[in-house]
Amino acid sequence: MRALELVPFYVPSNDGLIERLGDELAREFRCEVRVRLPWFDPEDAYDSERGQYDSTELLAALLADPEASDALVLGVTGVDLFVPVLTFVYGEAQLDGRAAVVSLHRLRAEAYGLAPDPELLYERLYKEAAHELGHVHGLLHCADPSCVMRASSYVEQVDGKTREFCDGCLATVEAHVGAER
Ligand SMILES: [Zn+2]
Ligand SMILES: [Zn+2]
Repeated sequence: MRALELVPFYVPSNDGLIERLGDELAREFRCEVRVRLPWFDPEDAYDSERGQYDSTELLAALLADPEASDALVLGVTGVDLFVPVLTFVYGEAQLDGRAAVVSLHRLRAEAYGLAPDPELLYERLYKEAAHELGHVHGLLHCADPSCVMRASSYVEQVDGKTREFCDGCLATVEAHVGAER
């Protein structure tokens, strides 16, 4: 199994969030997880007109690894991400590829005028990270309302799905992970 590298950048007051995410993703995807500092300048992906960061550019930067590691890479960031056709994205992944990126920005209760809720933030982050890694493992969006591969355009939809893959999606991930062993 290929290792997974978590690459945090602009993650505010961490509180062990990244370490916890790494531990749980290691269990779910049965892989070794390590944390790596970014080797690129995230500012290169900043769009000053939108005040957001271009997630496709960040994916390209995550893939352009000077150490040419064959690990999967997941960027985790506190800044707001976009793709040109959408107002924002929670994350983006290279389908059946190597890299994904997720943002905490719109997963924070504070983004909706509510008091900070670290536990809710973590749960949302875990779901979106597992979702993007599902894409990396070749999964498309799933119609099962409880499956973590259900598409989310609003934070209520993130909260409405579980952190689990449905049986069909899980079988695809396990076949993909198994094929790499
Ligand atoms: Zn998706
Ligand atoms: Zn599913």
